[in-house]
Amino acid sequence: MLRTAFEPSASPNAPRKRRAVVGRSNIGKGVFAGRALQRGEVVGRVRGTLVDDAQVDPYYCMEMDNGLFLVPKAPFRYLNHRCVPNCRLFMWEDEPIDPQTNTRALYVEALRSIRVGSELTIDYGWPAYLAIPCHCSSRRCRGYVVDPSQLGLVRKQARAKSRAAQLASR
Ligand SMILES: [Zn+2]
Repeated sequence: MLRTAFEPSASPNAPRKRRAVVGRSNIGKGVFAGRALQRGEVVGRVRGTLVDDAQVDPYYCMEMDNGLFLVPKAPFRYLNHRCVPNCRLFMWEDEPIDPQTNTRALYVEALRSIRVGSELTIDYGWPAYLAIPCHCSSRRCRGYVVDPSQLGLVRKQARAKSRAAQLASR
């Protein structure tokens, strides 16, 4: 007879700690690792409402592959931005398109191993017209919450603005 070891913590019915939990960050709500995450691990699926106009909720909308936008629900609604994030949004290329929504599911993936309790962040990659100053304190912070390809445009606009302010104050 083979001996069986019993591991109380390995019960399939034991409650599993959630990967992503909403908590307080220094800028309001944030999403935190409920348990340690591996690099490449799928943290979860982003659920929410599909809308056809990003202006419904421009600072939270996530762009889908069919021209629609997902207004995310908790927990992932509260993902904060960092210029060097530890997570990203992605879709499975080979996942069939949902005939009801005409799009694929959106997931959050860990870009590196993340300790329990650490904040989960993504790079918002906003277009220039939404850009706001960034204080994410990443070593490679771009200075604005904006897509890297639009950074030049935002800097140019900021320079033009400060020049106009200088002229106005003369
Ligand atoms: Zn930054």
